[in-house]
Amino acid sequence: MSSIDYSTEALVMQKHPFRERDVIVKLLARNGQLLNMIFYGGRGGGVKKKSSLIELGHCLKIELKKKKLSTDNLLVAKEWSLKWNSDKIRLNHNAFYLMNFMFEILLKLHLESDEMDEEGEHKELYVLLSNALFFLQKSLEKGAFVLNQHLNIFLVKLLYNVGILPDTEHCVHCQKELRGTFIFEPGNGGFSCCFSEGIKKFDIALAQSIHQAFKTILPLKYEEALALNCSDSEVSKALFHFYCYQFHFQKQNFKSAQMIF
Ligand SMILES: [Zn+2]
Repeated sequence: MSSIDYSTEALVMQKHPFRERDVIVKLLARNGQLLNMIFYGGRGGGVKKKSSLIELGHCLKIELKKKKLSTDNLLVAKEWSLKWNSDKIRLNHNAFYLMNFMFEILLKLHLESDEMDEEGEHKELYVLLSNALFFLQKSLEKGAFVLNQHLNIFLVKLLYNVGILPDTEHCVHCQKELRGTFIFEPGNGGFSCCFSEGIKKFDIALAQSIHQAFKTILPLKYEEALALNCSDSEVSKALFHFYCYQFHFQKQNFKSAQMIF
């Protein structure tokens, strides 16, 4: 029986040269699965001359030899072509670090599977990442790139998509409706109105900004959210802290985090 053909769009998140001419790549496929794939001849040279297609952030259209993994746990790319390129992102070092941070965030979620799945349960993560990269590149083209604005939109939408959004209506301790002043406690999983007298004004104002970020960003599409004033770097830090806490990740294990925080 001949091998099953399967094609998908996928975003390049990591690449490692392998042997003389091949490359092993981690990709996020359209169905939200993380794929480990070998591209024979993917380092370029030779007849195909396709090396420049496999770059971080590029979206490739890939045809697979079969849907199942080979014995060495890799899918095998049969044909590939460029669907969208991220050239502007790779030319701006802050945007490049941000892109790699987004990759690291998603890679830590371990979305691998040993067989291609038509009905991916993490489709929305592909939509999120492809939107994030597309509008990051657009902002760079327009000269309007603000790192923390992109980061905050990405993190808010990520928390929603992976189902760990904090309750924005109730106190995490007493469950009463949040009114007046409250603080954000990433380590306790949400907003709190039960805090001691000595709490700083800064923390109360920060909680308001975080609350506002959830309320304003979530109902909007990615592109629409870019019109908001949501580039507070302290909000980015708190959202990242919350994400790490929820998944029991250590912040210092994110290599790209120190470049953007
Ligand atoms: Zn309370």
